[in-house]
Amino acid sequence: MVSAVLQTSFLGDMVLTTPLLERLAGEGLVHVVATPANAVVLANHPAVASIIVFDKRGADRGLSGLRRVAERLRKVGAQRAYLAQGSARTAALAWLARVPQRIGFETSGGKFFSTRRVPYDRTLHHAARLWQLANVLGDDRSVPTSLRPSLYPGAADEQAVDALLRAHHVSAETPLIALAPGSVWATKRWPSYAALGAALAELYATDTVRLVILGAAGDAPLAQAIADAVAVRGGAPVINATGALSLLGSAAMLRRCRVLITNDSAPLHLASAMNTPTVALFGPTVPSLGFGPLAEHRVVLGRTELACRPCHAHGPMRCPLGHWKCMQELAVSDVIEAAQSLTTVSSASPP
Ligand code: SF4
Repeated sequence: MVSAVLQTSFLGDMVLTTPLLERLAGEGLVHVVATPANAVVLANHPAVASIIVFDKRGADRGLSGLRRVAERLRKVGAQRAYLAQGSARTAALAWLARVPQRIGFETSGGKFFSTRRVPYDRTLHHAARLWQLANVLGDDRSVPTSLRPSLYPGAADEQAVDALLRAHHVSAETPLIALAPGSVWATKRWPSYAALGAALAELYATDTVRLVILGAAGDAPLAQAIADAVAVRGGAPVINATGALSLLGSAAMLRRCRVLITNDSAPLHLASAMNTPTVALFGPTVPSLGFGPLAEHRVVLGRTELACRPCHAHGPMRCPLGHWKCMQELAVSDVIEAAQSLTTVSSASPP
């Protein structure tokens, strides 16, 4: 059986699609249609036979671009297409490519192009929902309890991490704590990362723990604010990796970290793939939407008593109520307590 998986959504969705890719790879070749940004994260992945890049907002936009990518997809000879991204455009791509069986969620905008519609189970993690797309009719196989995404950083990614750590005079034994302060959606950015950095600098003043700031180049100002706060408290210089590492490089860095403290954003999913203990800070969104951490050791923090949560599927750019309590009232002390509980666990685990 040759399969095609179409996933042109956000990076986190692509990472969460990897359990489905692994499941399908057990039955034959798996080709993936991905955006340019998401294609890079699948490099070296053993479940992926090939990646067909669909630059839907760039070179492949419009009907001519859709037909061009459909022709590339047709040539791989897939018998089944799994529509992991629910848009009509993605579903139309599989239809134009004449893939005979097209399997998608019954809630998807592109469901009219599907030959089979699978229930979108809102009680499941999104990785499990995607995994269930491969259930054949009448298959009641339950989702594995330890479902976890997978990524495969390559030698160049590891070398980039080595170089960055060497430049900061960090040895292989130095405990690393990763912070990921960014998010595309403003209300998902916890505003107290600098205060957290200052508190951690005081806590580990006589220790050798180092902070690593992960994120895109656009997160540099957030990283600088943390670096400044740490410096004021006399802490060891932070390792600012924002914009310095590829996505798989960030995953490679996370594999070396004792714990990640992150918003509900892409690094959370990278950490799930690398099984890095994770403290996840949820504000306008909630894990029950299906995008919580999947690392073996994890803590989710959020103001569960707020009736306004969740107020958005992704997180609005501004709090509709104006007070932004879901994030403003997440305490630094609670975050540190959660991180300490996980670092105790991870340092007790075999390396
Ligand atoms: S409405 Fe509530 S959940 Fe949404 S951003 Fe404001 S405080 Fe957060």
